[in-house]
Amino acid sequence: MSGVHVYPLNDLIEHDTDGGDCICGPDYEYIDPATGEAYPDGPVVTHHSLDGREQDEEPWLRETPTQSGASVEGDDTERGSS
Ligand SMILES: [Zn+2]
Repeated sequence: MSGVHVYPLNDLIEHDTDGGDCICGPDYEYIDPATGEAYPDGPVVTHHSLDGREQDEEPWLRETPTQSGASVEGDDTERGSS
């Protein structure tokens, strides 16, 4: 099975780009949104990095606020006044 593989460079693991099931659980995209037709070279397989760049499920990554910048600013001000 062929296809176009997109995967992060210098990742912690070696991605399976031979068409098998990769450990990272890649996303398969069969239809080209630009043309509405299937990719002529096979599906585009988008791999996910396993070093935390795209995943924030890990509890030790919650320190980085990504939801609302406003609430973070307010929190900072409160801490400063006390
Ligand atoms: Zn992968």
